[in-house]
Amino acid sequence: MAMQAAEGTRDFLPDEAAFWLHFKETAFSVFARYGYVPIETPIFEQTDLFVRGIGEATDVVSKEMFTAVSGENLKRLIDGGTIKSKSRLSLRPEGTAGVVRAVAQHDLVPQGGAPAKLMYAGPMFRAERPQKGRQRQFNQVGVECLGAEEPTIDAEAIIMLMRFYETIGIPRESMRLLINSMGCEKCRPAYRELVRSYMNEHADELCETCMTRAEINPLRAFDCKNEGCAHVMESAPKISDHLCPDCREHYEAVKTYLDAAGVAYEEDYKLVRGLDYYTRTVFEVQVDNGMGSQNAIGGGGRYDKLVEEVGGRPTPGLGFALGYERCALALQAAGVEFPRAQRCDLFVACVDDSVHAEAFSLVQAFRDAGQSADMDHQKRSLKSQFKLADKLNASMVAILGPDELSEGKVKVRNMTSHAERLVDLAAVKAILAKFSSEGAVLTPEQMREVLTEVE
Ligand code: AMP
Repeated sequence: MAMQAAEGTRDFLPDEAAFWLHFKETAFSVFARYGYVPIETPIFEQTDLFVRGIGEATDVVSKEMFTAVSGENLKRLIDGGTIKSKSRLSLRPEGTAGVVRAVAQHDLVPQGGAPAKLMYAGPMFRAERPQKGRQRQFNQVGVECLGAEEPTIDAEAIIMLMRFYETIGIPRESMRLLINSMGCEKCRPAYRELVRSYMNEHADELCETCMTRAEINPLRAFDCKNEGCAHVMESAPKISDHLCPDCREHYEAVKTYLDAAGVAYEEDYKLVRGLDYYTRTVFEVQVDNGMGSQNAIGGGGRYDKLVEEVGGRPTPGLGFALGYERCALALQAAGVEFPRAQRCDLFVACVDDSVHAEAFSLVQAFRDAGQSADMDHQKRSLKSQFKLADKLNASMVAILGPDELSEGKVKVRNMTSHAERLVDLAAVKAILAKFSSEGAVLTPEQMREVLTEVE
């Protein structure tokens, strides 16, 4: 049997690969309106960055990281040796840690300077059990804003996320925006203790995983899918009743700005999100249609302590990431289809082999003038060439024949209206040459004009 893609990974075939490109470009163009600029960080980082940044107790770090070692170091480990911590590398399970590391390393937020607003897109890796909407390699588009703690930053990021989803075509009414505040280092420890003692009081009703969580990170019990646990956690102390005055004020302000922008949300005190680094605002967007149990299409929050955790100077931050694959499922459920990747503005067909070289040069001339143009390279029948032109979705076909060519003409067919006319080849080439010498790009409309006007 032919080799298959590794478990939990999948190929983007041309239509989807083109759509993923469009998805990223759309996200970047929406985010750019809010002042975000692109950043690219490595796919792998020192394992320690994720351990310190995301937290050793999280599922992502404790169970789901793909750790990479060089062949030489692998041999050393097999031989019972050890490797230096800087040689312990992991594929990034999320984008925030790498961006925050880059911000600290390159001092992108100088003291007193404007915040850095950064956006990225690319693959992330988690060794999870694959299922619908959950893969081992998946793609995220995300943003991070470092250096500002004001609630307008939180509100604008949430508004921007919702605007993007709508722009890409996920119906607003199919999405649920959940928000919560997780407090800060002043109010959260006391709240965490309250939840822990509540859980200890209900130890016999909670699952083993939750009770282990009670020791390390009791708030994660709010995430447990077990019905019994969910029932018990319904009556657990709520963070909203235990925020310090500063956190309360911040949270209220975020909600006021969302209200003013007309962005509807639901407050969900159980929303704690899986990663340790969040402080204050957290949010998640869920869609039910077509999703299976993995219904979060994106989420994020504030992380005012993370930069210090990874060794930078104290810098507040906020970010979110959205998952491309789950958005694609939501789009499919909404009936949105991937447009066809193949595009060809002009197809040049040859009546016989004698005009093949001329066709080749005409195709190049159109390409040099910025058009997507193609031809059949395998000298197939005219009928097969038209089939190929159809497959490529060509809007115009130039039919080169020896008789027309001897008179310096070429027949052009509009594939939508099926109208045909003879045009002067030298005049067409002259216009194309003018465009390419000026470095100008002919639009498809201009191309159609050239091919119909010139006789
Ligand atoms: P997280 O970094 O866990 O907050 O994830 C942010 C978004 O990435 C989620 O809302 C999902 O849309 C997506 N995502 C996370 N994990 C996976 C996965 N294993 N497979 C596919 N998408 C994922």
